[in-house]
Amino acid sequence: MKTPIWTGDIDSKSDTIQSTGIVGSLRWWTEALLRGMNEFACDPTGDSRCPDDEKYCSSCLIFGATGRRRLFRLEINGGRKISFPGNGAINVKPSGRSRGWFFGPAIVGGLKMEIIPLDEKFDENFVLVPLLVASKWGGIGAKTQLGYGVVEVASSSNADFDKFKKALEDLSRERKRQELNNLSLPNLKEMFFAKIQFKASNNWWEKVDGLIDKSGKNRFEKEIRKKVIEECLNNNFLPIAPVIKNWLRYGNGRQTWQHNNRARGLENWLFGTSKTVCPQCYDYDIVPQENETYKCRNCNQKFKKEEVIDRCASKINISCAYVVDNNLWEVRIWGWIPSYPKIQGFQKDRFLDNLKSALNGGNFHALFGNQTSDHKLVVWREYNSERDTFKKEENFDGFVKSLL
Ligand SMILES: [Zn+2]
Ligand SMILES: [Zn+2]
Repeated sequence: MKTPIWTGDIDSKSDTIQSTGIVGSLRWWTEALLRGMNEFACDPTGDSRCPDDEKYCSSCLIFGATGRRRLFRLEINGGRKISFPGNGAINVKPSGRSRGWFFGPAIVGGLKMEIIPLDEKFDENFVLVPLLVASKWGGIGAKTQLGYGVVEVASSSNADFDKFKKALEDLSRERKRQELNNLSLPNLKEMFFAKIQFKASNNWWEKVDGLIDKSGKNRFEKEIRKKVIEECLNNNFLPIAPVIKNWLRYGNGRQTWQHNNRARGLENWLFGTSKTVCPQCYDYDIVPQENETYKCRNCNQKFKKEEVIDRCASKINISCAYVVDNNLWEVRIWGWIPSYPKIQGFQKDRFLDNLKSALNGGNFHALFGNQTSDHKLVVWREYNSERDTFKKEENFDGFVKSLL
């Protein structure tokens, strides 16, 4: 593992690896891949989930649903919980933030994953293809927006997208549910993946805004903080996602997405919120009306109670910094920027153009301090886009294969 993996259990701790968390994450990536292939994948957490008239979507055919079991089982062993003093989380609080973000202990080390087929129609590429895309470009498990879950598949796996498609075809001879995809669900065609590298000296963390506790409360807390950072460094990563997130959401990075003054709803939509927001404009300003209806005082739309969005996941994920080689470090910034729903005042292409050039500029020198150097964007991948630094790939199969 390059950064700790968070799978969580019922108490939302992450003491041991939970295979259900890994499977859930694999399912998310598979759904995004399937939607990119124009295969229907239902929202397993929504009302339109399978089965429908005893038919199942491609994703449920693989991962199961009510009345249908998953085609495989994962057995995951190994790893250990990173040892933070007192087992607590550290609060990474860049300048200007009153709360900051918490980074808690999760699982580090090597894991052994065994894929156990439970059905003759299972093909290991159902697991390997999404796993490889996630491990090379994104993250696995929960809280990837906070830097967890960057993994490397150690064994020489030969993920084969053609075999994935063939196996899916065989599977789909059954009662497959094929509908139009909900455009507001993750789709690999609408994702971007960036990697930034830089050189850093051993104690570079001392200059990172937010990692050190500048409030200077007591010596005891400072000692704890230092032990936590040392433990992270021993495991070849540093939890700096909040520093970048802070820059992008509140600092100079705002210029990448804030094209006009109406930013609040857009900000919630792009970076996520745990508060209740309007399904139309993503503003907080919704008030209850009669008959369980609501009205948004920002966009004046009325809607039903069940349409209100309770919490909204961040569309952008930022990894911890992790060691690539000696003093060479890397950070991933990746995400899914849907074209739908249209958010007023937001231009997707303009944002991604801005983000790509901002990641290549001197911003990271300012964020990580003067003990780091040679910051550069090493790769940008995006389907059918001029921004892709490998090549503009209009063929989706070709794009997927180039990610593996
Ligand atoms: Zn389904
Ligand atoms: Zn609204």
